[in-house]
Amino acid sequence: MNQTQRKPHTLFTPGPSPIPDEVLHSIARQVIYHRSEESKKLYNDISKKSSLIFGTQQPVMTLTSSATGACEAIITSLHNVGDTCLVINNGRFALRWVQMLRVFGLHVIEILIPWGNPATAQDVLPYLNKHSDIKSVWIVHCETSSGTISDVEEITKCVKSNSSALVCVDAVSSIGVHPFQMDTWGVDAVFTGSQKGLMTPPGLSLLALSSQALKQSETSTMPRFYFDIQKILHSASEGLTPWTPAVMLMSGLSKALSMMLDEGLENVYERHSNNTLLLHSRLRNSGYSLFSSSPSYGVTAVHTPNNDRAIVSTLVNKYGITVSNGQDELKDKIFRIGHLGYYDTHDIDFICSALEDIARH
Ligand SMILES: *Cc1c(COP(=O)(O)O)cnc(C)c1O
Repeated sequence: MNQTQRKPHTLFTPGPSPIPDEVLHSIARQVIYHRSEESKKLYNDISKKSSLIFGTQQPVMTLTSSATGACEAIITSLHNVGDTCLVINNGRFALRWVQMLRVFGLHVIEILIPWGNPATAQDVLPYLNKHSDIKSVWIVHCETSSGTISDVEEITKCVKSNSSALVCVDAVSSIGVHPFQMDTWGVDAVFTGSQKGLMTPPGLSLLALSSQALKQSETSTMPRFYFDIQKILHSASEGLTPWTPAVMLMSGLSKALSMMLDEGLENVYERHSNNTLLLHSRLRNSGYSLFSSSPSYGVTAVHTPNNDRAIVSTLVNKYGITVSNGQDELKDKIFRIGHLGYYDTHDIDFICSALEDIARH
């Protein structure tokens, strides 16, 4: 990525993430008719390019909604009311899926793991052995509330060899940051949003389903309409969507995906890991400590030093830098630095200098 032509970012939230100028330009133009050939081309182009990032040969569907909408599409398309679901709950986003599954009349078994710790296969195995009726297992790849990455491959293989449950993965803050191999890992449903690693404004979500999951969606009976996978898939075969999509965001997303593929996915992942390791070492050197035992390469949770609750507002008021506070039980105890998507070492240097300055005073 180009290191010198732009000013460092001041936005360091784990979604939304900064947008490259090229992406902004491809959004800010006269609107396209969503039944036009140009729009069909955009839809198919996004599907083709994002399937490389998801690691799948399955069709990737683009929805006009935030990532939670894609999750709703998966929940309602794969289940019947009363089904049993297993959720590995190690943070705020996993909790959201527990709540949502319950709202839709599903029976949820929760595996509670303290925030900051990853989900593991050992956590899941006893539940698979004890409950033979589990229809789906839910994993958050990167739990953004604590900046924790879990080994989805290991957990998925464990679920697949010990049950017939579908594996559903929230990869919202990991897609485009950490490698993801849906097909070889055996994941049945995966979803993300445009505003995280994909360098596009909020408003679109993407999802893919395995052939087993698609088959399930043909017969499951849960009520659904806007997020009906069968309708979405039917339209997608022609490059269309059942409803009016956020077509200009699709234009931006198509551009952003091209930029990622032009850079090379391996290089994108390496840039994220290099940025993260640099950030970690500079934070540690100036006395900060990390919260997660398994830190992700897209969001870093840091203990608030000396219980200085003002650090988030100091960063914005004195340095113009926006980071996120901790959520729920971690409010004011940690702060979270987003560095997923369009960041380079220049940006990391900028936020580290500010944090080092704060630590000296
Ligand atoms: C940001 C995020 C979401 C958010 O979903 P939205 O509906 O797009 O707000 C879900 N899961 C994780 C892990 C996230 O980081």
